[in-house]
Amino acid sequence: MLPAVFTQKQTMEKINIFWFRRDLRLQDNAGLYHALKSDRPVLCLFIFDTNILEELPKSDARVGFIHEAVLSLHTKLAALGSTIFVEKGEPHKVWTALLKKYNIGKVFCNRDYEPYALERDSDVRLLLQKSEVALHQYKDQVIFEKEEVLKKDGTPYTVFTPYSRKWYEKLNSRGEGANSFYLKAYPCEKYFRNFYKTKPLPLPSLEDIGFVQSTIEIPDTKVKRGLIRNYERDRDFPGINGTSRLGIHFRFGTISIREKARNALGLSKTFVSELIWRDFYAMILSAFPHVVTEPFREKYKAIPWRNNQADFEKWCAGKTGYPMVDAGMRELNATGFMHNRVRMITASFLTKHLLIDWRWGEAYFAEKLLDFDLASNNGGWQWAAGCGTDAAPYFRIFNPESQQKKFDKALVYIKKWVPEFGTDTYVTPMVEHKFARERCLKTYKDALAQAE
Ligand SMILES: Cc1cc2nc3c(=O)[nH]c(=O)nc-3n(C[C@H](O)[C@H](O)[C@H](O)COP(=O)(O)OP(=O)(O)OC[C@H]3O[C@@H](n4cnc5c(N)ncnc54)[C@H](O)[C@@H]3O)c2cc1C
Repeated sequence: MLPAVFTQKQTMEKINIFWFRRDLRLQDNAGLYHALKSDRPVLCLFIFDTNILEELPKSDARVGFIHEAVLSLHTKLAALGSTIFVEKGEPHKVWTALLKKYNIGKVFCNRDYEPYALERDSDVRLLLQKSEVALHQYKDQVIFEKEEVLKKDGTPYTVFTPYSRKWYEKLNSRGEGANSFYLKAYPCEKYFRNFYKTKPLPLPSLEDIGFVQSTIEIPDTKVKRGLIRNYERDRDFPGINGTSRLGIHFRFGTISIREKARNALGLSKTFVSELIWRDFYAMILSAFPHVVTEPFREKYKAIPWRNNQADFEKWCAGKTGYPMVDAGMRELNATGFMHNRVRMITASFLTKHLLIDWRWGEAYFAEKLLDFDLASNNGGWQWAAGCGTDAAPYFRIFNPESQQKKFDKALVYIKKWVPEFGTDTYVTPMVEHKFARERCLKTYKDALAQAE
């Protein structure tokens, strides 16, 4: 049901709409800035998209997080004498209703590069066009989009290191480092007076949307400068609180990627490099959309995965008998987070030791990770399975035991998540490392030789 404010289309003044999606903030928001600078008052909109929500469990912590973020926008906009219109439904239907009831001039939003979002946006663009309403889209989610960092011959990079070199070149081509034009904040606050003036509209509760509050805790957006300064030293040790935990905030845009990159540039090149990985995988997804369902390298389609269901369930539950793998999976199941080093170890174990299709693991992470992002998750899984963009060959197989000796020597992380480790109650390894390694090497080698 649309609120009363939307029922008097004929008599209403023309307004522009800013459609929030994965950019849930008022500060330094590219699309919002352009909307506020445009020719008409701006009403904000958020759609709880049932096409996405229907797939999720009712206690999904990410929906609770989005709801909180929308509530915060609602409160801030009310303080500015405006509001956000929040609807649950299919975007096409919500827009059809809005167009009937509302006098819309233009629509603004930020670009989203995932396949579903591209389809949704082109559908909404067509619908708006029929009513002569233009859809204006901007870059906000990444620092550089797919056409902005290309090889000399105009084709996309497929290897990270030269990409990252070119990324820096591009950054520094218009002002150095943190002063780069590409990291400039969009001063939305200068134009806050241009929000459409109205009483706050009612905001549906989480229950109205069909969800319940999760008990999972969300990390906040504040990251100490010291953490970034020591990032290079600490980031690989899951027992240390050495990474930012900003993933979910980048995912839903509750922080600005430009702001974090600006702040990090003088402090840690390694941290900035992680942000470049994020751009890199977003670019790979845009330029090579087949990666969503297929390996980046075609010949890896030939690998005959064992796909043993019982093995998969042990991995999901953190009962493989390899404490580093089990700690990671239990951390994921309990908190919605897993340390990057451990993501690499658990993903390698699933694909290499158990020979289970990377897409199974990818889907499990997608369901559980608070910071789930299609591009980075897919890139991480294909990297682990050896079929992705990475130049390193498939025969790099992590040994979970030596990884533990290197990165959790004092067993801080393991003791936290696998308290029974070292006692009789801890399960024995489900597969012997040497045997699994050799089985994997042979399987990959034979399949790839046949695919040549
Ligand atoms: C199998 C696998 C699956 C992954 N799935 C995801 C995912 O769904 N979503 C996701 O954001 N990251 C994913 N990553 C990358 C990385 O593990 C996480 O970004 C990181 O652990 C998040 O923790 P943090 O916020 O403390 O990161 P920090 O170490 O503090 O890094 C800061 C930010 O940089 C970005 N970043 C860091 N490492 C990477 C990377 N390797 N690739 C791309 N971006 C990176 C993230 O936005 C991260 O929040 C995956 C990695 C692997 C190996």
